[in-house]
Amino acid sequence: MNSKRTILTGLLILAVLSATVILTCKNDPSSDQPETPVVEKPAVKVPAFNRDSAFAYVQKQVDFGPRVLGSEGHENCKNWFVEKMTSYGLEVTEQNFEAEVYTGEKFPATNVIAKYKPDNPNRIILAAHWDTRHIADSDLSTFDQEEPILGADDGGSGIGVLIEVARQLSLNGPELGIDFVFFDAEDYGDSTEPEPDPADKVAVEKRQNSWAIGAQYYAKNLSGHRPKYGILLDMVGASGATFHKEDVSMYYAPGLTNGLWSTARKMGYGAYFINKQEGLAWDDHYFINTIANIPMVDIINMKGQKFGDHWHTHNDNMDIIDRNVLRAVGQVILAVVYRDELSN
Ligand SMILES: [Zn+2]
Repeated sequence: MNSKRTILTGLLILAVLSATVILTCKNDPSSDQPETPVVEKPAVKVPAFNRDSAFAYVQKQVDFGPRVLGSEGHENCKNWFVEKMTSYGLEVTEQNFEAEVYTGEKFPATNVIAKYKPDNPNRIILAAHWDTRHIADSDLSTFDQEEPILGADDGGSGIGVLIEVARQLSLNGPELGIDFVFFDAEDYGDSTEPEPDPADKVAVEKRQNSWAIGAQYYAKNLSGHRPKYGILLDMVGASGATFHKEDVSMYYAPGLTNGLWSTARKMGYGAYFINKQEGLAWDDHYFINTIANIPMVDIINMKGQKFGDHWHTHNDNMDIIDRNVLRAVGQVILAVVYRDELSN
């Protein structure tokens, strides 16, 4: 799983060792058996993730109202992202595109891309979607089903965690390059009944592609150094959340997924990151894996094939957000970023 890096590290250690041997010989010509120095990687200091800060970033997004395509809240929130990520010293690009949704309507949409150390070829993607659902279409939704939801968790939480990660980088950042990608137009997909006949491949694919339009656009229009892998956060803030090793992640990025869960477990977050494969999400990561061929794992709150009860209902508001869940996810992400030990 890590063979290339191991070989490289081995070569580096060899180079350091031979240099040391030469120096030692020069300094002490009488010694023909210099002691072999122990070369150890210095321990990486991972900063503490601030759960209150992340919570405030979720609140800030919700204060804009629903961030539905075509809405004022959507536009204002996007502008805040650009300002915020720029203030942390990142190179921010608005990747504009037109999202044609399942109703036939067309909306201006924007993936916000913020690059940390853009010149470093050794880099990863950290992503979440920022748009929110235009309807409350869950089976559990009991009122105002045609009204847009606030999306504190579904949209807001992943972005809130990522903005806090970006803030930490601006204080004392690691060497690893990072492309923060805030996907737009993830959640305007087609859920109309009846579902297409599974035998009708064209209809099934059409429905599938009505979701995650921003991720599809991003995957087809990559620029700059190619990230070695990506981590997607989706619904990572609700009280009672658990994250299983999701099927698409395990299919396309098994090494990365297992490594991430193992890191979380060693950090004491095994109660959130359940060591079991369960649930399948056709999320943004599916298109990054299949179109861009970049392995991407999805950290998503699922139990079996179900999302949380608040999902796509008006209960997806700030009341559901739990600072400790945000911290569990954020702290694991910081460890991954500062240690840079994962690969697929
Ligand atoms: Zn959603």
